[in-house]
Amino acid sequence: MRADGDPNLTVYFGGEYVRLGDAKVGILTHALHYGTGVFEGIRAHWDENARELYLLRAREHYERWKRNCGILRINVPGAEELCAITLELMRRNGFKTNVYVRPLAYKSAERVGVSPDDEDAFSLIALPFGDYLHAEKGLHAGVSSWRRVEDNAIPARAKICGAYVNSALASDEARRCGFDEAIFLNESGHVAEGATCNIFMMRRGKLITPPVTENVLEGITRESVMELAHAELGLKIVERPIDRSELYVCDELFFTGTAVGVAPIVRVDHRGVGDGEIGATTRKVQQLYFDATHGHLKDYRKWLTPVYHVGTEAWLDRSLLAL
Ligand code: PMP
Repeated sequence: MRADGDPNLTVYFGGEYVRLGDAKVGILTHALHYGTGVFEGIRAHWDENARELYLLRAREHYERWKRNCGILRINVPGAEELCAITLELMRRNGFKTNVYVRPLAYKSAERVGVSPDDEDAFSLIALPFGDYLHAEKGLHAGVSSWRRVEDNAIPARAKICGAYVNSALASDEARRCGFDEAIFLNESGHVAEGATCNIFMMRRGKLITPPVTENVLEGITRESVMELAHAELGLKIVERPIDRSELYVCDELFFTGTAVGVAPIVRVDHRGVGDGEIGATTRKVQQLYFDATHGHLKDYRKWLTPVYHVGTEAWLDRSLLAL
């Protein structure tokens, strides 16, 4: 889906809360020409019963962001300060719906010349956001003819703006070929990930995903799903290279990501995955992930930050009842 920004939304830009319509950068900005920025994507889920908005794993996202900004020598504040700005931003916008937060740090000097200097800036944008992919019936994914960027070209483990040309090319190709999403192979010919999501495969009772050394983003949803599947379903999780042809013979497949959540794949390259229906384990993981991210599972509330606190009492009551 597209999430077009209403110009009247409040965003954090240049150290202030301003209207989105007033948050502008100059045409010579370094990052605009050379892709020298690092972004993040964080979700917040609205719970109508609790009348509360739950920000999901914000600390982990901001810690990843700060570490990855270091690759480009961009400085951003610590997670605590960024979480506080994010909460204030949500409250100023008064969101009562699902939200996507887009932090963006970038080389901000306005001049020509690729070699970056120490001038950088960051902004935080929060937008109402629904489903990114419509995966209710399962997705049809296609292996891309574009290969995933190599770590020693542009590191895929960080959300570096310029690297998303790679994702944009693969997404565009996939959609024009009639697929819902692309699957990247890396230069070794192994499965890496989707254009904007990590990938998991069920094969012979094990949940398998490529290791972080296969040119993938070190996904926070990937980590959450591994924790949930192991702790709640007792599944054995294996991080190992995946061959392309394993996509055609495995039992189940799904994507994970902040925007997509847990998205089942039922066809790859016009071949049915398993029996061609959403897999039973995939459904369980999907439900667990939904429950954990919406405050329904006590053990995973550590992942959530309530934005308004009005739901706190209901939350405490419910957790006490569950004891
Ligand atoms: N891979 C890529 C290329 C991505 O852009 C994303 C989205 N951030 C992911 C994987 C999933 O990462 P996360 O679960 O941290 O959102």
